[in-house]
This record gives sequence, C-alpha cells and structure tokens, in this order.
Amino acid sequence: MATKQGTIGVTTDNIFPVIKKFLYSDNEIFLRELVSNAIDATQKLKTLSSFGDFKGDLGEMNVRVTIDKKAGTLTVSDHGIGMTADDIEKYINQIAFSGAEEFLEKYKNDANAIIGHFGLGFYSAFMVAKKVEIRSLSYKEGAEAVKWECDGSPAFTMETIDKKERGTDVILYIDDENKEFLEQSRIDSLLRKYCRFLPVPVISGKEQEWKDGKYVDTDKDKIINITEPAWTKKPADLTDQDYLNFYHELYPGQDDPLFWIHLNVDYPFTLTGILFFPKIKNNIEVTKNRIQLYSNQVFVTDSIEGVVPDFMMLLQGVIDSPDIPLNVSRSYLQSDSAVKKISGYITKKVASRLDEIFRNDRPEYEQKWNDIKIFIEYGMLTDDKFRDAAMKFVLVMDTEKKYYTLEEYRTLIEPEQTDKDGNVVYLYTTDPTAQFNYIKAANNRGYNVLVMDGQLESHFIGMLESTIEKSRFVRVDSDIIDNLVPKSDKKEVDLAAIDRNILTGMFRSQLPEVKDANILVTFEAMKAEDAPVMITQNEYMRRMKEMAALQPGMNFYGELPDSYNLIVNTENPIIRRITEEANKALEPSVKPLEETIDSRNAEISALRSASKDGKMSDEDSAKSRDLEAEVSKARDEESKLTSDYASKQPVVRQLIDLALLGNGLLRGEDLSNFIHRSVELLK
Ligand code: ADP
Repeated sequence: MATKQGTIGVTTDNIFPVIKKFLYSDNEIFLRELVSNAIDATQKLKTLSSFGDFKGDLGEMNVRVTIDKKAGTLTVSDHGIGMTADDIEKYINQIAFSGAEEFLEKYKNDANAIIGHFGLGFYSAFMVAKKVEIRSLSYKEGAEAVKWECDGSPAFTMETIDKKERGTDVILYIDDENKEFLEQSRIDSLLRKYCRFLPVPVISGKEQEWKDGKYVDTDKDKIINITEPAWTKKPADLTDQDYLNFYHELYPGQDDPLFWIHLNVDYPFTLTGILFFPKIKNNIEVTKNRIQLYSNQVFVTDSIEGVVPDFMMLLQGVIDSPDIPLNVSRSYLQSDSAVKKISGYITKKVASRLDEIFRNDRPEYEQKWNDIKIFIEYGMLTDDKFRDAAMKFVLVMDTEKKYYTLEEYRTLIEPEQTDKDGNVVYLYTTDPTAQFNYIKAANNRGYNVLVMDGQLESHFIGMLESTIEKSRFVRVDSDIIDNLVPKSDKKEVDLAAIDRNILTGMFRSQLPEVKDANILVTFEAMKAEDAPVMITQNEYMRRMKEMAALQPGMNFYGELPDSYNLIVNTENPIIRRITEEANKALEPSVKPLEETIDSRNAEISALRSASKDGKMSDEDSAKSRDLEAEVSKARDEESKLTSDYASKQPVVRQLIDLALLGNGLLRGEDLSNFIHRSVELLK
C-alpha cells in the first residue's frame, strides 16, 4: 500500500484541541481506554479461536505496557486480532459526530461523558500525547501490517510496514506537560487502579528484589492484575478463606468483614459482584474503602452515589456489570434505567441475604448485630422497600443484653406495658449507666427497657413509632414510672391548695441554677416506696433537640434550654412529713395571704367580666391595676416566707440534690456543697 494521507472523518475540525484542553483533569483514563481496547482485541481472538474461526497458534496472550524514557514513548501492545488498513479506516478514521460542538460545550468538564458519548476511547490518547502511532497486524490470513500516525491535528498518514507479530502496538509520544506518564511508578499506580482485575495478564515493568540496600529490577515480568477475581467465579467454588483473601486484596489492612453477599444475575440484566459488610471502626474508612464499580472487570469508578441506595455506601466490595455504561458521567449513570434496576435488585438481594443469615445462624447474627446495626437502621430509614423487608430481622436489645425481633419484643412487653389507651409503650434508655436509677425503677415495676444508644436512634425511634401500629417509645427517664405507661387506676395527688403552694415555693427556692436548663416543680402521687423527689426530662422536647442537632434548619429547638421536671412524690413519707411540718410552721402567716390573693383575683375577674368587649373603663382599669399590685405583693410575701423557711430545712435541698445527682446534673460547687451538707447531716 502506498502511503495514504487523509483527514479523520470528524465534522468538527478542532476535536483534538478540545480533547486536550477540556479533558485535562481526567486525563489518566487514557490508559484504561487503551488497555481495555487491547484486552478486547485479545478476548475477541480467543473467542474466534474457540469457535474454530481462527486456526493459528494463539501464543502468549498478554498485554504489555512499556515505557521508553529516551524516546519519550509509552506503548500498549497486545497479541489480539489486530487491524487491517480497512479496519483502521473504519474504526479509527471514521468517527461519527453529531451535534458535537453543543455537546462538548455542555460537558466540557466531564471527560468521561465526552469520551463515552463519541466512543472516543482510543482518541483519549491525545490527552497526553503529541503524536500517536498504531502499528498493527491483523489475524486475518494474508493481512499486511500497517502503521497509522497522527500528530493531533485531524490529519493522519497510513502506510504498510513490516511487522511479524500479530496484534497491535499503540505508541504514544507523550507531550511535555504529561511527562509523569513516563514514570514506571505512576503507570503502576494507574494500572493498579483501573486494571487490577482485568481478565488478561497485563505486564508492565519488572519484578523487583532487594539487593545491596536497594530495590532493583529482576528479569521477571511484573504482572499487575488478577485475571480471575473471586466475583467472576461460582460461589460453590469458593471457600470462606477465598472471600476473605479477596476482601483483603481489595482493602489491605482492614479487619475481616462480618458477612458477604455474592451477587450473580443474568436476567433481566447481567451483574456479578461481592458485597462485604465491613466492621466499621470510623467514618474515614467508610469514605475511603468504597464499593468499586466494574464493567467486564474494567474499573469504572468508586463514586457510586446513585448506583446503589445511599445506605449501601456503608458496604464494600465489587459490582461488575457490562450493562453499566463505562464512559459516562455520574449524573448520566444515575438516570440510566439499567442502573436503576440494578439498585433495586441489590437492595432486595441484600435484604434476603440478611434474612437468611438471621434465620440460619441467629447466634452469630446476634453476635454481629452491634456492627451491622447502623447499616440496617440507616437502610430502614432511607429505603422503604428495605424497611419493609428488614422489619423481620431488625433486632432490639434490652438492658440485660438480650436480643429480640420486633415481633418477639412486642409479645414480651404487651401484657405489662400497654397503657390505658391500648398503646404498647416501648421504654428505652440511651445510656444504661447514667439512667440506671430509672431503669431499675422500671424493672421493679415489671417493665423491660431497651438500649437505644446508636447514632441514628432518634430518627430510628420515630420511624418505628410510625411503622408499628399502636406503639409509643418513651425514654425511661422522661417521666415518673406511673406516667411512662399510664394506667387507668392511677392515683391522683391529694394535696390541699395551700400545701401545694407552700411546697412549690419551698422546692423552687432551693433549686440550684443548672446551666442551660429549666426545671419545673410538679407533684405526683407515686408509690410510698418510690423516691421522694425525681428529675425527669420531657420526651418531646428532648427528641426535638436531638433531631435539631442532626438536622440543619431546626435551630429553634436546638437553642432552647433543656427542660426538666422536678417531681415531688406526695405519697412518700418524707414528703408527707415535710408537708405537715411546713403547714404547721407557715399556715398562720400564709393563709391570710392566700385569702387576700384569692379575693383580689376574684375581684379582678369580676371587673373583667363586667367590662364591654374586653375594654374596661379608665376607673375600672385603675382599680384592677391596684388589685393586681396587691396580689403580686402578697405572692412576694408568701414566697419570701416559704423560701426563708425552706432555707432552714436542709432536707429540701438535700432531696433536690439527690435527684439531680441521679441524673448527673449535680456538678461543681453544688456537688461540693452537697457532700459537705451530707456530712453535716450525719453528725
Ligand atoms: P470503542 O473501544 O469504544 O469501540 P475506541 O475508539 O476505543 O472505541 O476503539 C474503536 C475501535 O477500534 C474498537 O472498537 C476496535 O474495533 C478498534 N481497536 C481499538 N484498539 C484496538 C486494538 N488494540 N486491537 C484491535 N482493534 C482495536
């Protein structure tokens, strides 16, 4: 053949400058493209040979990546089917473009999208090379070897050459800005990234050995890939150790995974892979060791947002599907219908595998529960289908460290923990040590308490409440025991109004200042043997605050102080005694004040109801203001009386401090005063 000259069949003249300029950031993928082409050519010849369409000797079927630093070239060579001049004309020269400029403009920052769109795999070589040469000898009988050469303009030359070996060499004359691709270490790391599991041996450089204090090349070729990675084999042919080895190959330095799932589908799409449940130690590992996406063993990406449901991002391993487009942008990937189906399939598969492990080996499942819990809870929170499936195998653990399914647990607590409205009340603790007192009180009442101390718990509890019919979740310290599971036979507080006011005044005056917290004094008729004073934290407010901490936009709740109730048990003998003594000491002086308050208040409301449309005459409003002043004066006097009295009763402060202590709210100077007072009381 005479030297042929021509222009590459593009409708846009400036494709090469575009490739070079815009695709710079992603330019390393050129190597993936060229090696993939070489592998394809090799596989095609193997296929032809296996069908008897190629009768020659296959010889050594590998791909070589060679650096020649002196010549400034990087060469990818294969012994595959090769190309004739016609093939080159057809596959390399004629690249069809349509709407090219528009598309390039739109995706100029996304090399993958552009390359994928135009099927430009081979042309990505121009991202790093000033000149590219193809030297090829086709497998076809009597084929002539050809050389194609192009310097990055749409002009090329093609001529016949002398090449004895079947296959193709693609020679890149690396340009000045990209000299890094002439470093063996750089090429090694790229090959490890993209080609680690390719099905044909890829050779680059030599094995090294330690000699005279440094590493030196040996004569042995360095094969960089594992041609038959575990996911391409049948599960029946793999031992547990094989899976573990593969895991450690993927993620060196990790603990053994907890479980794995071997994926294998051929209909309605083809997908293989292995997903591992890692032992998650910290968040860094979650973001670093991610699921890798492959297409026919070619690494595509480990940015798989959208390809698998969000919660699966906590898993590790490999997904390989030829249906996943190799060269597309992430946004394209997410909208791809095959990819959507894949995501749904994986969810189903993961759920059924978990169900299987749960049913076949419950002890092991329970043992690993704490490690997989975050994954399952996150999945249930973010994926309805997974939630429905997982209702069967999600576990809850009580304070005795016993595990239950939701159904088992409901059966357990239903008899004792159903309230007067027929709701089953799930009691839980977020901190078994800090809330020990409350747990004990609940256990004494025959109630069971769950431990809910995970990171997602406040959301998870909300989800369970809305999913499980007639259920309510209540933290064990959020109220007194009788109110946690309200029953119809609850005892009412039996306290005269004056005693209630005196006690309120006494306790309120003795409350210490607790930082960022409001404490409200209330009364309950608990059992005589229950604690005299307790501190509880409002469930609703606490949950709102916890959610606020996790979610932006809920600052309002986040900034509110914590609100606690100081509950005085009016049935407790100590409280009864305090009430009686206080009544004796204070009634003579407090009663007249209370009477004043009551009668003035009555006058005020009489004035209000006499007024027209809520508007009082000037005379009446002046009167009403005087009355209000009298009321507030009487109140002030009353509270001075009660607080003076209370300050001489160390037992009041002592009881409050004991309750605060039970909640970990007694700190600093207050704690030291408490200790001091306790010692005094013992004297
Ligand atoms: P794609 O691989 O997506 O088809 P490319 O631009 O990478 O696009 O390659 C175009 C075509 O050129 C390939 O489909 C193949 O027919 C041919 N080709 C590329 N590289 C080789 C090679 N090393 N050996 C044989 N044929 C090749």
